[in-house]
Amino acid sequence: MYDRPRKQMVEKFVIQAGIQDPQVIAAMQRVPRHLFVSPAMNHQAYNGGSLPIGYGQTISHPTTVAYMSQLMQITGGEKILEIGTGSGYQAAVLAEIGAKVYTIERIAGLADQTRSLLEKLGYYSIAVKIGDGSIGWNEFAPYQRIIVTAGAPAIPENLLNQLAEGGRMLIPVGEGDQHYLQIIDKVDGDIVVKQENSRNFVPLVGEKGWAE
Ligand code: SAM
Repeated sequence: MYDRPRKQMVEKFVIQAGIQDPQVIAAMQRVPRHLFVSPAMNHQAYNGGSLPIGYGQTISHPTTVAYMSQLMQITGGEKILEIGTGSGYQAAVLAEIGAKVYTIERIAGLADQTRSLLEKLGYYSIAVKIGDGSIGWNEFAPYQRIIVTAGAPAIPENLLNQLAEGGRMLIPVGEGDQHYLQIIDKVDGDIVVKQENSRNFVPLVGEKGWAE
């Protein structure tokens, strides 16, 4: 279902947006995005834009998902920590590329809804936890990759500590529409930070994020 609109979405919002990683392109051609948005929005799921997913939250724009997935430089088999499960779409794309994903969502009802959907779709390599992701998920650390899908006031120390040697973390830092995506590599124990262009993200709410 929706095969043609999905192909058109990938053409317009992924390939034409400059994404070249064949694994990311193939993954986004496979994941049924229409099932990750609120039912009334199914028909709009492939039009781009941030659509509602319930609980006052939104699914990320396809270009943002493609861009961040490409920056993750996954080859398969990596252990990834995602902060901000939301609809589960980003996690599903990463799982399609072959990663094992540990993902945390602070809104319990949303986490439960997404866990059921991911199970129904057979994404058994994704574990969903309810909690404050700004402090990470120490139990399964270290992670080869960490992706934060909400904007933090600063880079949380806990997350840096849970990043494996040679690993990479993506985290938007800033406020409102002034978030700068930070690409953080851990090289020989040192932290190397590169800053990308400004993008818009919802706030990371929690102990190491913004107050509620
Ligand atoms: N990755 C999601 C997707 O593919 O649909 C999009 C995520 S949405 C833009 C950001 C999510 O981060 C929201 O669901 C929000 O509730 C969640 N969030 C915000 N602060 C959080 C925190 N401290 N821990 C876990 N989740 C958090």
